[in-house]
Parts: sequence; structure tokens; C-alpha cells
Amino acid sequence: MYSIGIDIGGSKIAAGVVSEEQKLVSKKSLPFPHTGNPLDSIRTIQTLIDGLLSENRLKLEDAACIGLAVPGSIDYDRGVVINAYNLDYHDFPLCKLVGEHFPGVTVYVENDANAAALAEYYCGAFRGYSSGLLITIGTGIGGGLVMDGKLFIGGKKNGFEFGHAVLVFGGEPCTCGQRGCIESYCSAAALVREGRKAASAHHESAMYKRAQGELTRINAKLVMDCAREGDEVASAIYKQYTDYLGATACTAIALFDPEIIAFGGGVSNDGEFLLSPIREYARQYAFFKNHAKFVTAEMKNDAGIVGAAMLHLQR
Ligand SMILES: [Zn+2]
Repeated sequence: MYSIGIDIGGSKIAAGVVSEEQKLVSKKSLPFPHTGNPLDSIRTIQTLIDGLLSENRLKLEDAACIGLAVPGSIDYDRGVVINAYNLDYHDFPLCKLVGEHFPGVTVYVENDANAAALAEYYCGAFRGYSSGLLITIGTGIGGGLVMDGKLFIGGKKNGFEFGHAVLVFGGEPCTCGQRGCIESYCSAAALVREGRKAASAHHESAMYKRAQGELTRINAKLVMDCAREGDEVASAIYKQYTDYLGATACTAIALFDPEIIAFGGGVSNDGEFLLSPIREYARQYAFFKNHAKFVTAEMKNDAGIVGAAMLHLQR
């Protein structure tokens, strides 16, 4: 038996075959077709799966499942994507549509941040633990929680939207319409926003000079590079940013008490530069002194594919 995982993102659809030994053995991708007709993406998924089956000489009847990961909210009982704004999926019967092309195979759909947490649980940073929280730092904040070996999708199965818990009451506006969410302080976009704000007020800073006075050139990497090199303005911004992440981690510790917390996304590539200030914050403020261990995520770009392929072990 093998399983197929599909990670559907706004820029591309990535598909892979995961073996019984839980190894990603083959993968391929195609651009997401932004044609205005979401049914075109079903054709792309079909093309990818057909390609994987023939290249790897696999028979459809040996597939344990086809798992789909999407950046959106899911109706688990119906296999429907309620909303995935980047994909233009609204009340979209994804499982049924994909299943029509692959009769006899069970099709599952999951939120991509949740799928990524499952990938860490079966194949990555959470191996050997029964509970773990993955915080994926990107344009937004993705959260995925595994408790007692099970993905946590909420008591009413609405999902796990950790990024939209409020961190600063009445704070910065969030993409969800609320203010002060974890996402509006801990995302890479938040680090960029604060970096640009500080650089525009401090033309003497290394950050401003590196950007040659063009604030749009300031990205998360530039803020972090300047902070690492000791620029005072960038260091202050980065300290504040890691404090927000530390407070977020402490909230998670108080609520869920996971054994391990992994940070993913580009900002985490640097490892200790991100983890050590968060550890220091938690050492001072975490409610439980024997709290979770902090690590970086291991599955990187394959997290969505691998996690989606593992969904048959959860349902
Ligand atoms: Zn929000």
C-alpha cells in the first residue's frame, strides 16, 4: 500500500507518493490554474495523480488514500472546502470531485496547517511524542495541534485557528477582520511591517541604508540580517517580534501543555536565532516550568504533501 498527498496552494499544486514506510518517494507539481473556474484545478490534480501512478508503476487499487491539503476551512463530514480564498474555493465539494476520477479510493481533505502538523507527527520533529504544536510562520500564521496522537480539529470540528486568537486587544488589524490577532504580530508580514515603520523613522539605521531608502525592499530576512549584525533599530524590532512569539508560545503552553512546539516557515530557517529568545521568554513567563521543548520544523516544503498522505491513519 502507498498513499497520495496533494498540497493545493495559491501558486502551485504539489503531489507526491508516500510509501508504507512513510517516505516521500516521488513528487511533482504544476501551477494552480487561476482561470476563474475552480473545476480546472480538479483537472490539474487528476493530471498530477495520473502522472505519479504511471511513472511509479502503481495501481490505483493499492492506494490507501488520496489526501488533499488546502489553505482554508473544511466541512469534514461532507468533504467540502467551505472557503479557501486563495484558491477561489467556496462551498466546493473537493473530495467528491477528485473521487469521481479515482473510483474505489478514499479521498480526504484537511487544512494545510493541520496537515503540516501531521507530517511532523509521523515523519518529522514530533516523532516519539504524542502531543505537539506546529506554528508555521508565513504571510499569516498557521497552527496545527496533535494531542494524544490525534489531530485536534475542535469540538465542533470547525478547525484550529490558533493564529486568530487575540494577542493584543484592540491592536493591529488582521486579515480576518479582527484586531490584534497572533497573526498580526507574529507573521513574517508583521515583522516586515514593523521593520519598514522603524526604518522610515530612522534613516540612520543599517536597515534603511541596506534598503537604499526604499522601504519596499525591506523583507523579513533583511530585518533579521540587520538584527544579527547588531543594528540597534533592527534589533529592537526583532526583540519585540520574538517577545510576541514567546508570549504566543506561553499561551499555547498554558492552554494545551504540548510536549513539543515546532516553528516552521522561512523565519525559522535560522534555527537558534529564532528559538533562543523564545526559550528565554518561556523560561521567565511560561506557566509550567517543565514546559514544551522548542524546535524548528523538519518537513519544510514537503509538509503539506506528506501530511495529506497520512490522513488515512487519522480517520
Ligand atoms: Zn485574525
